[in-house]
Amino acid sequence: MRTHARETYRERMDTTTDTLVIGGGQAGLSVSYHLRRLGVEHLVLDGRDRIGDAWRSRWDSLELFTPRRYDGLDGMRMPGDPAGSPSKDEMAGYLESYAARFGLPVLTGRRVTALSRDGDVFTAETAAGAFRAARVIVAMSNYQRPRIPAFASELDAGIRQLHAVAYTSPAQLLPGRVLLVGAGNSGAEIAKDLRADHEVVLAGPSTGEVPGSYTGFLNRHLLVHALNGVVFPHLLSVNTPVGRRVRPKVMRRGVPLIRVKARDLERLGVVRAARVTGARDGLPVVDGAALEVTNIVWCSGYDPGFDWIRLPILDDRGEPRHDRGVVPEVPGLYFVGLHFLTSMASAMVHGVGRDAARIASLAASPVLQPEAA
Ligand SMILES: Cc1cc2nc3c(=O)[nH]c(=O)nc-3n(C[C@H](O)[C@H](O)[C@H](O)COP(=O)(O)OP(=O)(O)OC[C@H]3O[C@@H](n4cnc5c(N)ncnc54)[C@H](O)[C@@H]3O)c2cc1C
Repeated sequence: MRTHARETYRERMDTTTDTLVIGGGQAGLSVSYHLRRLGVEHLVLDGRDRIGDAWRSRWDSLELFTPRRYDGLDGMRMPGDPAGSPSKDEMAGYLESYAARFGLPVLTGRRVTALSRDGDVFTAETAAGAFRAARVIVAMSNYQRPRIPAFASELDAGIRQLHAVAYTSPAQLLPGRVLLVGAGNSGAEIAKDLRADHEVVLAGPSTGEVPGSYTGFLNRHLLVHALNGVVFPHLLSVNTPVGRRVRPKVMRRGVPLIRVKARDLERLGVVRAARVTGARDGLPVVDGAALEVTNIVWCSGYDPGFDWIRLPILDDRGEPRHDRGVVPEVPGLYFVGLHFLTSMASAMVHGVGRDAARIASLAASPVLQPEAA
C-alpha cells in the first residue's frame, strides 16, 4: 500500500512519500500534473524560494522565442495572445498559477544536496530533513551549473566578469567594450541586448541556425508552427534516423540560433570572433591577440550539475546515463527535462509534457528490480 506524506515537512524531520520529484520548474510541474492524474502520491522539491524563479532570474528583456500557443503545459493554456511572445516573468507567473490551479504538492526552499539509495529506498537530503521514496524523478534541464573557463581567474581584476546566468541588464556592466564568450542563443540574444550601450565582440564557434526568419507575419504563422509543432518534437526525435543523427551534434555543440541570427548581429554592428583561448597580460586572447575589454559575459554554457546524485549513473561529462529518461542501472530512478531526452523539444515548454506523461505512467507501475545473479 502507498504511504501518505506526513504534514510535518516544515520541521526538520524525515518524510516518506511514494514518488519524489526533484525540481519544480516546468519539468517537475508537468510530472506532478501527470502523477496526480494517475493517483500517485508524491512530493515535488525545489531549491528556489518561489515557483518560476528559474525564469524570473533570467535577464530583464528576455521574451520566450516560443509564442504563447506553445508555452502552456498539459491541462492549461497560457493566457494572452496565442501568437505573442510572453516575457520571462509572465512565464514564471504562469508556472506559479499552474501549480496553484492543480494543487500540486510543491515544497520550495528544499534543495537536495545528496540523493542516495539503500535497498529499494531512495533518500534525498535537504537542509530541512531527509525525504524517502520508492521512486525518484529528477525533473530539470541539464544546465544547472554555469561553466567558466579556468583562465578567467588570470584576467585583470578591473574587467567586470559575469556569467549569462547572472546577467540581467546592460546597467550591470562598465562603460566600454564587452566580450561575449559563446555564440549560442544566449550569447546572440545578450549581444542584441547590449548593442545600444556598448561595443560588442561575440566570440565562439557557430552553433548553426534554424533556417528562415523567426519574425514577420508569415513566419509567425508558418515557420514557428513548423519548428515547434513538427520539427522539434517529431522530426528531430530519437525515433527518426535524422533525429538520431542530429542528437549527438546538438548535445555537443548546443542548440542552433533560433531567433537572433548571424545576419541580425552583423546589421547591429556586433563584431564576430572565432575563439577565446586564454589570458595574456590580464587580457583575454581572442583569435590569437590580446583584446582590450572592460567587460566579459561568459555565455560559455553550463555543466549538468548532477554531482549531488550519489549513484553510479553519471558519465565522464557528468551527464546521466539513461534510455529515454529511464535509468536501467537504478530501477525507480527517472529523468525528465534533459536536453534531447527523446526529442529536440524535450527541454522546451511544449515538449516536456509528452516525456512527463510517459515517465509518470512508468512511475505509477511497480518498480521491477533486476533479478539477483
Ligand atoms: C535563456 C533561455 C531561454 C529559453 N527560452 C525558451 C523558450 O522561449 N521556449 C521554450 O520552450 N524553452 C525555452 N528555454 C528552455 C527551457 O524551457 C528552460 O530552460 C526551462 O527553464 C527548463 O525548465 P526545467 O523545469 O526543465 O528546468 P529549470 O528551469 O532549470 O528548473 C529546474 C528547477 O529545479 C531546481 N533544482 C535544481 N537542482 C535542484 C536540487 N538539487 N534540489 C532541488 N531543486 C533543484 C531549480 O531550482 C529549478 O527551480 C530557454 C532556456 C534558456 C536558458
